[in-house]
Amino acid sequence: MKFCNARTRALDPYTPGEQPRIENLVKLNTNENPYPPSPRAIEAMRAAVGEGLRLYPDPESVELRRAVAKRHNVSLEQVFVGNGSDEVLAFAVAALADPGLGMRFFDITYSFYPVYAQLMGIPAHVIALNDDLTVPIEKCFGNDSMLLFPNPNAPTSLALPLEAVRLMVESNPDHAVVVDEAYVEFGAQSAVELVNGYENLLVIRTLSKSHALAGLRVGYAVGSAGIIEGLNRVKNSFNSYPLDRIAQAGATAALLDEDYLLECSGRIQKTRAKALRDLRALGFDCPEALGNFLFARHPQKGGRELFAALRAQGVLVRRFDKPRIGEYLRISIGTDEQMQRLIEALQRALGEG
Ligand code: PMP
Repeated sequence: MKFCNARTRALDPYTPGEQPRIENLVKLNTNENPYPPSPRAIEAMRAAVGEGLRLYPDPESVELRRAVAKRHNVSLEQVFVGNGSDEVLAFAVAALADPGLGMRFFDITYSFYPVYAQLMGIPAHVIALNDDLTVPIEKCFGNDSMLLFPNPNAPTSLALPLEAVRLMVESNPDHAVVVDEAYVEFGAQSAVELVNGYENLLVIRTLSKSHALAGLRVGYAVGSAGIIEGLNRVKNSFNSYPLDRIAQAGATAALLDEDYLLECSGRIQKTRAKALRDLRALGFDCPEALGNFLFARHPQKGGRELFAALRAQGVLVRRFDKPRIGEYLRISIGTDEQMQRLIEALQRALGEG
């Protein structure tokens, strides 16, 4: 790194979950959707592949933003789209967090947030979750800097009710409150209906999980026109065309296919309820989850050991080697068959199978 600057050398980048090519692997480590994307999205993407790719895409993604605006009942000026919600989150931190004031996030949260803070030179003010990993709501009131949190939280899968989020937004009128709703479509309450009432609220979503389009890289944000203008300024100082023609076409069609989304999300929620019962029957301590993943630990067997025992049986989950959560496994919800293989592998790992 001889020619890299000191800031780059000091970076501690985010590590994404593995994408191994192992045959017959039960892949429950990156919260992907086990079902295919909407057939209408696939058809729209096929139609977008052709001579038209000679031309740059619409830099403002108007059709896609129109679909988002329609879905959430807001105006076009209140919608921003980006290359996955990771990019939208990065632009939100760049546009909204003040290096002089810093930003707030939980100690146990999406591990990309501290990376953005470090990259952009924003001091981090960390709010420790309660012992049971729930959010200490009163510590999120009356902040002196931007607040960023996922709802449901990652990797705990615990969700805050809308009223709690509303109180956080209302009690921080001079600072942005950014709610990362990557997992909201699996049963939690969304704050998107509050954006017309609170100028400081920004809600960020992704099509990666709920719409089964992790491979397409599309995320979006809904907020006040002033905040969205800030995000556009950052985007246009970085990359004019973050979404290609295929992504814009596929994401637009996927967002318009609401029935398909509801059907897949309903199936995942059913599978989640059964997996939760099965894990508890095996002795796991596993709270009620509202994302498309469970967060579980076993009182008798450590996280590292369980992770390795599963991997040896072709079942991949995620474990974070971090304080307070090292004993937990984060398990994405797959198909019923995949979850059955997980449970059988765990039975063997626990010596019950
Ligand atoms: N937010 C949270 C809480 C996540 O877990 C993820 C997925 N790693 C993202 C945002 C980013 O998702 P994507 O970039 O695929 O939209």
